[in-house]
Amino acid sequence: MALIVHKYGGTSMGSTERIRNVAKRVAKWVRAGHQLVVVPSAMSGETNRLLGLAKELAPQVHSDAVLRELDMIASTGEQVSVGLLSIALQAEGMQAVSYAGWQVPIKTDSAFTKARIQSIDDARVRADLAAGKVVIITGFQGVDPQGHITTLGRGGSDTSAVAVAAALKADECLIYTDVDGVYTTDPRVVPEARRLKAISFEEMLEMASLGSKVLQIRSVEFAGKYRVPTRVLSSFTPWDIPVAEEAVSGTLISFEEDEKMEQAVVSGIAFNRDEAKITVLGVPDKPGIAYQILGAVADANIDVDVIIQNVSHDGKTDFSFTVHRNDYDRTLDLLKSKVVPALGAASVSGDPKICKVSIVGIGMRSHAGIASKMFGTLSAEGINIQMITTSEIKTSVVIDEKYMELAVRALHKAFELDEPKN
Ligand code: ADP
Ligand code: ASP
Ligand code: MG
Repeated sequence: MALIVHKYGGTSMGSTERIRNVAKRVAKWVRAGHQLVVVPSAMSGETNRLLGLAKELAPQVHSDAVLRELDMIASTGEQVSVGLLSIALQAEGMQAVSYAGWQVPIKTDSAFTKARIQSIDDARVRADLAAGKVVIITGFQGVDPQGHITTLGRGGSDTSAVAVAAALKADECLIYTDVDGVYTTDPRVVPEARRLKAISFEEMLEMASLGSKVLQIRSVEFAGKYRVPTRVLSSFTPWDIPVAEEAVSGTLISFEEDEKMEQAVVSGIAFNRDEAKITVLGVPDKPGIAYQILGAVADANIDVDVIIQNVSHDGKTDFSFTVHRNDYDRTLDLLKSKVVPALGAASVSGDPKICKVSIVGIGMRSHAGIASKMFGTLSAEGINIQMITTSEIKTSVVIDEKYMELAVRALHKAFELDEPKN
């Protein structure tokens, strides 16, 4: 008997019919002799709908008091899901009980809309499991030290599931979604993308942080920190396929490099449309500029990603960086009103229509020339690179958003990631 955590995403929970299917699948695992904890997301579209309602009443959301209410509202989507799934399981003849995050409790910090899990009390869950129940816990939410409901950021149910698995020392965390595993890139953008049987934890961490939304980055961090065996697999296979077959399907996140099935230098391509570029022009080139510009941005709680400072001409330089697109207007306002006058810079310009495309692979550590192959491929397509950033196992470029799909497809082909044609 193993203790298994299943996570089902919004599409998998998208209708009562699909919830019934989830219940049948979970019941199958219980009948195979396992203890099951299930962490579902809200039904597809529900979180957007709820946040949309709030936005109608408060288009400009900045204050902590409003963010608190957003969490109060958004958390209800998952509360509906757990209740429905529990009823569906009971209809399958299972004993089941559902809990909201605060009832477990899943304790978080107080960063509304992007809270971090701090601890999970496993006593209640263990008691229910021992009594033969399937325990269903809301994804995406927790409770802060003052008792306020918090949410973990979009896609946060992945993190809830892996964190619950870590707290329970579960034998495995199975993330069921609308694709049958982790692919070399988003299969919606590149139909030739290939499913990976396994991906190293480090590569998955990079892929997630560089924009592959198949797993929320914090879920991968949890999996790594607590060594939670985690697998991404499809919830759209027939629910009655044998457990033994289902258990080895999808993509395993592997912690051993030699477990890695594919030995390609580049394992995957990630992209992110959520960034915007800002350039401060004609900045006097003297010590402390980066600090003056980025310090002011950081003080406004705006995260910066790629940064470039150009060589100076006549004692002046240009300084560019990217921020989340949601923070674009705020960053421009801040620079124009405070930083540019204080620095004596010439002006600020920006471009919200950029994207970041990245190649990822642990093989890049030991192979030279990978970045230049990337640049050559983009140049052959006539795509201008605006910014570049590299680390040991990834190279990212910032390009015009309109070339994103072209760039991803060209790189996917150039690094021989396309599914071989029969
Ligand atoms: P869920 O609702 O189950 O959490 P998500 O929409 O959050 O599902 O994540 C699954 C989606 O992630 C897929 O439908 C796919 O379009 C997208 N995706 C992006 N990058 C990848 C990748 N490398 N491999 C697989 N799916 C990816
Ligand atoms: N329902 C939340 C969202 O849409 C959490 C999740 O799906 O993981 O972001
Ligand atoms: Mg998701």
